Amino acid sequence: MGSDHTVPPRFEPPRRLLLAPGPSAVNPRVLEAMARPMIGHLDPETMRMLHEIQSMLRDVFRTGNELTFPVSGTGTAGMECALTNVLEPGDVALALVSGAFAERMKEIALRCRAEVHVVGGQWGNPVPEEAVADALATHPTAKAVLAVHAETSTGLRQPLEGIGRLCRERGTLFVVDAVASLGGIPVEVDGWGIDVCYSGSQKCLSVPPGLAPITFSPRAVAARIERGDRPMNSFYLDVLPISRYLGTERLYHHTAPVSMLYGLHEGLRIVLEEGLEARWRRHEEIGAEVLAALEERGFEPFPPSGYRLPEVICVRLPEGVDDRVARKRLLDEFGIEIAGGLGELAGKVWRVGLMGESCTRDSAKALLDAIDLVLAA
Ligand SMILES: *Cc1c(COP(=O)(O)O)cnc(C)c1O
Repeated sequence: MGSDHTVPPRFEPPRRLLLAPGPSAVNPRVLEAMARPMIGHLDPETMRMLHEIQSMLRDVFRTGNELTFPVSGTGTAGMECALTNVLEPGDVALALVSGAFAERMKEIALRCRAEVHVVGGQWGNPVPEEAVADALATHPTAKAVLAVHAETSTGLRQPLEGIGRLCRERGTLFVVDAVASLGGIPVEVDGWGIDVCYSGSQKCLSVPPGLAPITFSPRAVAARIERGDRPMNSFYLDVLPISRYLGTERLYHHTAPVSMLYGLHEGLRIVLEEGLEARWRRHEEIGAEVLAALEERGFEPFPPSGYRLPEVICVRLPEGVDDRVARKRLLDEFGIEIAGGLGELAGKVWRVGLMGESCTRDSAKALLDAIDLVLAA
């Protein structure tokens, strides 16, 4: 009896130096935590761990928001959770666009059947505060402004503080993608007037992909409550039943991914042990060193000076370097993963992720040495 098919051998992942913009290297403490025995998702101990995760996430997001939790899913699930809870059909939304992830936000807002107006639109260039002020004046009923803080597709850092101030003056909700910034560079949810902010576990937090930390301001929660029973297109991501699961009622909504929560709990402990300020400094310093070294080798930074992310370096390739061939050699001969360009930047740029556990001087040196050997050939 038995199957006609042979069972494949045990899967053994190769050793890789992860220097793409996610997933980043994972600390063995996190891997060990994820292998701990299973307990129930409604177990009082699971709830205690989840409440500790919520509290650590508030520290990392720099917020007092009660509704702060990890969405079950990757960063894109965080994006859908933010937008489906905020936008109803017919709502006006202003989407700040400067790369592929902002285009994705726009796409999801359109699927919520919002009326979306693009502000900016040039990949790699920050959207100026004045353009947002003009757009808010043209569309005074706008329900929300959508922005990507760290645009991973272009290595762009979008300033947020002034835009948050404009949103507060207008009573417009400010929704921010911090998938590639949280835990790597400063994110100040309360200080910058952000209403909904989401991230992903596998970028600067250095936990495997699978959870999307998110936080909702009381204003954003009130907007969801006001909507009442008016239909929402997602059951899974509706924050009202999720907040009843997180609260004292502990009402079942969906099974929390318990092992992922073990990993996030340990990963956040590591982030807070290092300290946010020290962590931001480490990313800033090592990112600047690697960018300078790449410029010496003929790579040109893609975003303008002053708006470059240290944790996602996006550089144009020097003349004569074949993107596919060179990246294949880095992976095959050196076990190093970096990323190419997305969309219109495919074949033209490289993106180097120096996130969380991947952001070390040893990793940087290994990458630069390998690039030297590959470019010399
Ligand atoms: C990676 C990323 C996402 C998407 O996250 P997934 O985990 O791939 O779903 C969204 N926004 C930004 C800025 C990202 O870098």
